[in-house]
Amino acid sequence: MAGYTIRSIFDLAVEALSAEYQSDEAISAVRILLEHHLQAERYAELLRPQAPVARPDADALLLSLRRLCAHEPLQYVLGCAHFMGMELEVDARALIPRPETEELVLWAQQSAHGLPCSSLLDVGTGSGCIAVALARLLPGMEVHALDVSPSALALAERNARRCDVAVQLHHHDILAAEPFAAGPFGMLVSNPPYVLERERALMRPNVLLHEPAVALFVPDADPLLFYRAIAHRARSGLLVGGGAMLFEINEAQGQAVCDLLRGCGFVRVELRRDLFGKERMVRCFAPPAWA
Ligand code: GLN
Repeated sequence: MAGYTIRSIFDLAVEALSAEYQSDEAISAVRILLEHHLQAERYAELLRPQAPVARPDADALLLSLRRLCAHEPLQYVLGCAHFMGMELEVDARALIPRPETEELVLWAQQSAHGLPCSSLLDVGTGSGCIAVALARLLPGMEVHALDVSPSALALAERNARRCDVAVQLHHHDILAAEPFAAGPFGMLVSNPPYVLERERALMRPNVLLHEPAVALFVPDADPLLFYRAIAHRARSGLLVGGGAMLFEINEAQGQAVCDLLRGCGFVRVELRRDLFGKERMVRCFAPPAWA
């Protein structure tokens, strides 16, 4: 049997994916797979349609294709995702970094000027994307990150090393009764789980079947579970007076999160929309001294 050419494998792959994906999505995913497995140029199927594809490359590409057909996210299949200009390693141990979270990182960067102390803690770091990005953007900052999942921490450690930054990683459950051993910090940042169980029905299979549920979901009965826990710990000594706290939030919980923070005594509480126009981030500050 004649081997594959770039064009023949492109056509076959697009055809296979179009059962599960829209045609523009299928075409762009296949172009990315060709780049990844063959080191081909983007549009190689047009530039060099008849170029032969070596058997091992074709096999690897077809394996990736099977993973995509099973709705595994493209970033997991490739093993990497782009975030804040960095290429991070990603797999099923942690959520894929989202573009909204880049906006949170930029806001945290802007908030770092004039803090009472140059240290920050990322609560629920997952892949480490927030902590690693802030360590790169804020060279004088001592960066810590915690996560409940040891396997996510192992991934975050690889990402810190890969991006050549120092992040001190801690295994800790922010919902646990025992206090977190390090700190206090000048800034707390968190993108905690905030998707309600009842929102599962609205989610795509690539997220639902493959991304870690522990990083996504909160009980319907307690949407602010993590915000309350973090705010209480911030108040009881994790955040210094005058320190900043930034959260990514569920778009439906903006006012509720702001009310919670004001109720806990935080000041200058501010809600921001993301690039999709959704209320997605909140920043607040600890007062200089708690009342
Ligand atoms: N934005 C993510 C999503 O919609 C959720 C992130 C989170 O729960 N912190 O899939």
